[in-house]
Formats: sequence, structure tokens, C-alpha cells
Amino acid sequence: MNRLKNYINGTWANSSSNETIDVHNPATQEVIATVPFGTATQKDLQDAATSAQGAYLEWKKVPVMKRVQELYKLKNIMEDNLEDLAKIITDESGKTKGESIGEIQRAIENVEVACGTPMLIKGDVIEDIAFGIDEMMIRQPIGVTACITPFNFPSMIVFWFLPYAIATGNAMIVKPSEKVPLTMMKLFEFFDELDLPKGLLSLVHGGKETVDAILEHPSIKAISFVGSTPVARYIYSKGTANGKRVQAQGGAKNPVIVLPDCDVEMSSKIISDSVYGCAGQRCLAASTIITVDDQKRNIKDALYEVVKSRKTGYGWDSDTNMGPVITPESKKRVESLIQKGIDEGANVLLDGRDTVVSGYEKGNFLTPTILENVPLEKELIQTEIFGPVMSLISMKNIEEALQFVNSGNYGNMACLFTQSGAMARKFRNEADAGNIGINIGVAAPMAQFPFSGWKDSFFGDLHGQGNHAIEFFTQTKVVIERWPNIWSRKF
Ligand code: NAD
Repeated sequence: MNRLKNYINGTWANSSSNETIDVHNPATQEVIATVPFGTATQKDLQDAATSAQGAYLEWKKVPVMKRVQELYKLKNIMEDNLEDLAKIITDESGKTKGESIGEIQRAIENVEVACGTPMLIKGDVIEDIAFGIDEMMIRQPIGVTACITPFNFPSMIVFWFLPYAIATGNAMIVKPSEKVPLTMMKLFEFFDELDLPKGLLSLVHGGKETVDAILEHPSIKAISFVGSTPVARYIYSKGTANGKRVQAQGGAKNPVIVLPDCDVEMSSKIISDSVYGCAGQRCLAASTIITVDDQKRNIKDALYEVVKSRKTGYGWDSDTNMGPVITPESKKRVESLIQKGIDEGANVLLDGRDTVVSGYEKGNFLTPTILENVPLEKELIQTEIFGPVMSLISMKNIEEALQFVNSGNYGNMACLFTQSGAMARKFRNEADAGNIGINIGVAAPMAQFPFSGWKDSFFGDLHGQGNHAIEFFTQTKVVIERWPNIWSRKF
């Protein structure tokens, strides 16, 4: 069996841990690798941090124009290997081929924006001619950083951080999700082709124990985390208590309001893609659909027609629109949430449980579920489902719907479907969420913008991507200099 190695100090090396867990293809249950796990991985983390510190001291002296040359190379390598990488993503996460390629393209977009770091990192200067004093603010790297990622985007998420971290002169240790470690193995083969100091980028496998070692290590100055809210909250509180800079993105529960004036055909297609894309395992998946006024009938029928035609199956098969969920436990959890919703009074329009796909009988498959009139205070409406389930509810007017949107604990995304500019403007101004979609179902910001998130969906100040990432990975230094004009002086 393929027992995965770490990449530390520029070399592939066995983990210090003999403990492993299996990595499964979620469409077949086939074991495709084993990944190091347990307390002994903490030694690996310490080795990575030691070599990262040395590499950082070397790399910070390299001019920024030279540093970004390695990113240009990386972009080309990723583009040349797009399909191979996408296949690995599909086989370990279950995504469709289109979804896997799409997430790599989003990753590459971040590499491209980080290539602009020479412009983005520029400082400020004020000069006082009369007193011969110049005051300037420069940005310097912060040192060794770490990135901890979730299972649902095995390639993209690390790129919200890593290209910016190295372009600004830092080192980074990556701890991928133990459920999908193979994509990161391939990406580190690409990083290995770059001309970087040994140890600048390290890959350390593991779970909670490895993360705890990151939180405790004194050389690690900043942590970028993406995952569920309880873990994000833990990492933020422990990391900041240990004096580290932390950005921690958490879970989500994304509401969508559909106004009576919306384009029903377009809206139902976009909403369906948002709810069921990536089998609902997306932090920007629409979850609760709120129809307003008399619209419900039309949109309900249109949604039903679009949704029921989605084909579930193995992601690399060309006719598949929706892959499996990540684990059998995930499938069971989603199925039990659906049952709870029904027990609590929801009406079932489509029931996606007990799905078996021919040829892939062991896969963690569900087909789309639509539940209607789910009671607002119940678990199905309040909890992140992270599976292909839509809850349809109706409200009297936009005020009531907005009040509901803003009553949730999460604030990752909120969307509105309408043809009214005035309503769109009101919504974008009043909705309490960091990413807003108007006639958009997955409001994922381009790499030039921060991947925002509010409330329990984010702990910290600066998000990933764009200028926020440049700021997160640099510390400002203000320098005041006096250079009196000696030629005008009398001696
Ligand atoms: P998770 O929180 O279980 O795991 C994320 C990472 O944390 C993994 O690397 C894991 O090894 C580590 N981890 C898990 N438990 C830990 C613990 N107790 N202590 C320390 N580390 C721990 O998340 P997941 O199931 O892999 O991913 C799904 C979640 O991620 C969903 O909640 C989803 O909404 C969220 N997510 C959020 C965003 C965003 O941008 N806000 C993006 C993608 C995913």
C-alpha cells in the first residue's frame, strides 16, 4: 500500500509515526493510500519547523521580483498537469471532473494574482524637506507560517495563502486533511521542481496532534486555517493565546432569497448548481431557499424539474453531475438529518437517501433531496448539513426574509435572486454575510478580493487571497530618518 511520505527540508521522508489511517476513494471504498497519524507526527512537525526557519532566513533576502519568478514557473507546471491533478482530486474527494478542474483553475488564479506581489507589497514614504526627515513604511515577511486545510477543496484552499506567503518572503508548512492527502502530494512534486531554498515549503501529514504541534511551536508565527467552525474557533483561540497571527475560516449555512420578479428558469438552474455542486460539500453551498410572496409555486416546480435530472455517480464518468459524499459516516449523518427534518414536520419533494449507483455499489452516494416547509427553529435549518439537501421555506416579504438571513450564526454567504436593482442594493447593504451573491449561487470571490466570511464563519481580521493575504503575511516597519541638508549649512 502507498504509505505517504512527508516532504521536509526538500526531501521526501518517512514519518516518525508508525500509526496510519486509510485514505479511501469515496466512489468505491477502495483504499488508495495510508497516511501517517498520531502523536509521533509531532516530531515531523518540529523537523519541518527547524528547516523552515533556516530557509526563511535565506529566502527573505531574495528580491521580490526574483521570488515571483518561481510562481510563474508553478503556474505553467500546474497548467501542464491539469488533468492528472484533477483525476487525483476526483479519486480522493469524489468531485466530478469539471469540479476538480474548476478548483485547480481557482488555485492558478491565486498564483497569478500573487505574481503581482512586487506591486502589492510596495510601502509608503513621506518626506519633510524643511527638517530633512523622511518617514517610510515597509513590509517585511513574518517568518515561518503554517496552513491547515479541510477535505472539500484538496488543491484550491492552500492557494488562498501559499503563493502570497512565499512571494512576500515567508516559509510555509502545509498540513492537509488526512481524508484527501494525495492531491497535496502531487502539488509538492510540483513545488519540488521550483528553485526554492530547502525547507521553504514542507508537507507534514497527520491530524489533531500535528495541528497541536503547530499551535505550540515557537518558530511558527502565523497560521491559516480552513475547516469546521468548532476547530476554527479552537485554532484561533489557542493560536492567538500563543502569540501567533491567525486567520481561521469556519463552516457555513448559506441562505438564498428568491423574489417574485426573478427569472425563474435561470434562478432555478443556478440555485440547483449551488445546492448540489460538489455534492453540497462546499462552504458556499446554498442550503436554505426562501421564496417570498407568491413566487413559491413557480420556483418550486422549476427547481424540482432541474434537480431531479441531476445524475449521481463516479466523478470521472462524463455523464455524472454529482459525486459521492466523502465518507460513509458523512452519508449516514446527512441521511439522519433528512429523517429528523421529516420527523419534525418537513414535506419531502425529493428523497435522496438509499442511493446505490450501478457499478459503484459501495460508494457514499446520495441523490438530491428537497424538503419543504421545514420548521425554522429545527436542526435542519440551523445546522450546516454539508450534503446535497435543499430546504425550501417561504416568507411574506423581503423584510421578514432578511431578518431570518441575519438571525443565523454563520455569515459566509447570502444570495438574492431578483430583477430589481433597488432590492439588490438593499440586500447587499443589509445582509450580514461576508460574500454576497445577486443572481449568483456561489459567491466565490476572484483571487483579487478577500475570501470574506463573517460571524461564526471566520475568526480573525485578514482573510485569504489578494491584498488581505499580502497584509497577513507581512509585518509593517516604520522607519524615520533624518538627513539634514549639509550643503546649506554653514561650517
Ligand atoms: P475539519 O474541521 O474536520 O478539518 C479541517 C482540518 O482540521 C483538517 O486538516 C483536520 O485534520 C484538522 N482537525 C480536525 N479536527 C481537529 C481538532 N479537533 N483539532 C485540531 N485540528 C483538527 O473540516 P473538514 O470536515 O475537513 O471540512 C469541512 C468543513 O470546512 C465544513 O464545515 C466547511 O464549511 C468548512 N470549510 C469552510 C470554508 C470557508 O472558506 N469558510 C472553505 C472550505 C471548507
